[in-house]
Amino acid sequence: MARVVKNYKEMKIFRFLILFISSLFFVSCIKQSRLYSQTQLLMGTYVEIIADSKEAIKIAFDEMKRIELLLSKYNPNSEISLLNREGKARVSLETFLIIKKAKEFYKESEGAFDITVCPLLKLWGFDTRNYRVPTDDEIQKVLELVGSDKILMDEENRIVEFKEKNMCIDLGAIAKGYAVDCAIKRLKEKKIRNALINAGGDIYCLGDKFGKLWQIGIREPFQKKIRKVIRLKDKAVATSGDYESYFLKDNKTYGHIFDPRTGFPAESGISSVTVVADDCLTADALATALFVLGIEKSKSLLKRYNAGIEDVVFKERKKNG
Ligand code: ADP
Ligand code: MG
Repeated sequence: MARVVKNYKEMKIFRFLILFISSLFFVSCIKQSRLYSQTQLLMGTYVEIIADSKEAIKIAFDEMKRIELLLSKYNPNSEISLLNREGKARVSLETFLIIKKAKEFYKESEGAFDITVCPLLKLWGFDTRNYRVPTDDEIQKVLELVGSDKILMDEENRIVEFKEKNMCIDLGAIAKGYAVDCAIKRLKEKKIRNALINAGGDIYCLGDKFGKLWQIGIREPFQKKIRKVIRLKDKAVATSGDYESYFLKDNKTYGHIFDPRTGFPAESGISSVTVVADDCLTADALATALFVLGIEKSKSLLKRYNAGIEDVVFKERKKNG
């Protein structure tokens, strides 16, 4: 039985705290202006929103809650849960489009980004936290259920269907980014020009902080300290790493980002990668894809989405023996 060394939620709180402290710093820098900050537990993480009115914050949270209801596989009433249960479902246009977008990332990343890793996450115990290392036979069998090309989409009727029985999808690598984008869109509609939304490290910086760029602290993997501060305006940033959710067995760590081609947790040599893009969905998806692909194989993908690597930390060789 594998030993769980880190509680997923605890680590999320940890990452959130670092960013929260940074934001407090920003708020204190502009004492003379009015900025409000609020935090809520949403989409399995702490979401912090900073804006210049309480109304703006409420608008953004309401929108993010709407997306969570639609897309969370942990909400039995979501369209994703329905699809995962039935293997075929007519879904809203919004759900249809996000699955389509996920398939696009699958194609563009040559299979590295794949929302059908869901049965692998179950096999390795990431859904229940009863972690274990499966046998090669088990992995090979489950790999038959993996591959976003096995998601069939009927555009006309908005029906999504899985080609194989027992397939399931998990939007964990894209939903938070999408929710942040939707909330920012609502704020823009209300003519709000400056705000920051941080959904557990998936961040969008709208406008600026009364003339100064928003500052984001990137944490050193497995440590508390901030290794780098980046400054952004009207940009999104997302980090994927192996230090947030993993288990340890026989002195080897197994992380929550899977290589859909091998059925094992990704082993590209990256410990943490931070991607900046024009929107948060793209930053979120690309950070996950890069974690799987490694830096060398990601160049054309980044170019395709007009995105860039802001920071990367490689694994120390000694860590995994
Ligand atoms: P976090 O959710 O911690 O911010 P990511 O955005 O990288 O990190 O998403 C990781 C989550 O995405 C995993 O917990 C899992 O639900 C899902 N996932 C794992 N591997 C992949 C993959 N190769 N492609 C798409 N989604 C994945
Ligand atoms: Mg992601």
